[in-house]
Amino acid sequence: MKINKDLCDICGTCPSVCPVEAIKIKEFEVLIDNEKCKKCQNCVKICPVQAIYEQQEAKEPSQSNLSKETNFISKNEIKHPIEYDAIVIGAGPAGSVAARFLAENGCSVLILERDREPGIPVRCAEGVSHNGILPYIEIDERWISATIDGARLHSPNGDSLDMYNNGTGYVLDRRVFDRSLADLAVSKGAILQTKADAVGLLRDSENKIIGVKYRHENSFIDVRSKIVIGADGIESQVGRWAGFDTCLKLSDLEICCQYTVNNIKIEKHLCQFYFGKEVAPGGYLWIFPKSETQANIGIGIAGIKSLPGKGPRYYLDKFMEKHYPQASINYMIYGGVPTRAGNDFVRQNVMLVGDAAHQVNPITGGGTVQAMMGGHYCGETAAKLIKQGNITEKSLKKYNEKWENRFGQNQRFMYALKSKFFGFDDNKFNSIVSICKKIPRDDFNLQSLFKETIKEDPILLAQLATAFLVSKVTK
Ligand SMILES: Cc1cc2nc3c(=O)[nH]c(=O)nc-3n(C[C@H](O)[C@H](O)[C@H](O)COP(=O)(O)OP(=O)(O)OC[C@H]3O[C@@H](n4cnc5c(N)ncnc54)[C@H](O)[C@@H]3O)c2cc1C
Ligand code: SF4
Ligand code: SF4
Repeated sequence: MKINKDLCDICGTCPSVCPVEAIKIKEFEVLIDNEKCKKCQNCVKICPVQAIYEQQEAKEPSQSNLSKETNFISKNEIKHPIEYDAIVIGAGPAGSVAARFLAENGCSVLILERDREPGIPVRCAEGVSHNGILPYIEIDERWISATIDGARLHSPNGDSLDMYNNGTGYVLDRRVFDRSLADLAVSKGAILQTKADAVGLLRDSENKIIGVKYRHENSFIDVRSKIVIGADGIESQVGRWAGFDTCLKLSDLEICCQYTVNNIKIEKHLCQFYFGKEVAPGGYLWIFPKSETQANIGIGIAGIKSLPGKGPRYYLDKFMEKHYPQASINYMIYGGVPTRAGNDFVRQNVMLVGDAAHQVNPITGGGTVQAMMGGHYCGETAAKLIKQGNITEKSLKKYNEKWENRFGQNQRFMYALKSKFFGFDDNKFNSIVSICKKIPRDDFNLQSLFKETIKEDPILLAQLATAFLVSKVTK
């Protein structure tokens, strides 16, 4: 397999579908180890820009060095005698919140961030709920682009429905938001090292994980820690180094493409969603306003639905041409969203959090708030056990329990629902919108939805009930 570097957007998605860990992201480059590659074609299928292709000629010598470099295991070779209580890899919402809870509770923490600044590049539609972020950061106009109080759902037949009682939300400026979360962690005592690309875990002679090796500019640096936290997003190399099964099935991955556009006219307080197999097969298309003339317009389609020449950008361009032909595109991003409901986040003294732990809402793909909540549970649990000197895999698994108690059932329901929802034909989406329209705005809740669904579409109700039961009995 070969990467066309001119096309690759370094979106981080392909390592998450490789069953043999043949793909690594090294600083600003994606590398494939062709000695490991089994030619399953998963990466070729999901790459949103078709940057991966089958290599005809023999492998390049530079790539054969990959496993030596990135699977580094150092046996008692620490160059720098620095030791922290915890090292957090990744300064996204998950990593910054985990680091903040550790630092706040008196632990020494080093955050390693590959990019030159947290929050850049933005790979997100930037929608969050007010209640979700409130516990973690004081609301600040600097990182709010728009305040949202409603959602418009568009069914495939052109019908639409406005919903208004889901509470307040925001479309963020994540560059500023992520930076603010990292600053908060630093203000509590965490140390943030940017341009620091973690390249492997350090292990002692008994194979116990004792820290992290990272590259900073042209040097490799070894740092010891009692705990390592992998907050390194969808591509989570930390997870793979520690022995987690992080490989996603193509059906558990949404491949996304998004334009931030200007020169449109839009209702600033309303997010919009479009469904249907012609618009977004196995996913949905969103419009998240940033002002009355600017918005994030993006699409996620299921990995299994992506075909050569018919990836997310194909559908997005079709939509733009139809609805906003006059829009000017400021910038474009690609990215992947894991839609599997993770529930096991600990191996030895390594904890995963956020997208790395698949703590995303499987149906909406929203993961910012869940990453922060995961960071909270992870950081708080780790801090308590560090202080008690009780760091074992078993004790750290209290973090799994906290997550399970708060999210387990809900995540399983959402996952089971996702499997049904994205398999619906267009008639079913039309039916959902028409059922919801019959419910008075002020009376919109789960009970009234179920009541109306029994009357209008008992089969749909049976499908929702099955999803609920599946979530109850699977764990
Ligand atoms: C197109 C798209 C739209 C989305 N829209 C929304 C939305 O509207 N609302 C919502 O809630 N969620 C949305 N999400 C999901 C959301 O962006 C993620 O769930 C969220 O960012 C997860 O936070 P995180 O901290 O776990 O990971 P990330 O935000 O991905 O942060 C991981 C960090 O780790 C760093 N890193 C990775 N590897 C290394 C390494 N080896 N060494 C050092 N640093 C490393 C990365 O540079 C990055 O800064 C969207 C995702 C996509 C792709
Ligand atoms: S999936 Fe993303 S990271 Fe991988 S080759 Fe394609 S654009 Fe690059
Ligand atoms: S073809 Fe399959 S095995 Fe080879 S790099 Fe791509 S995902 Fe990995």
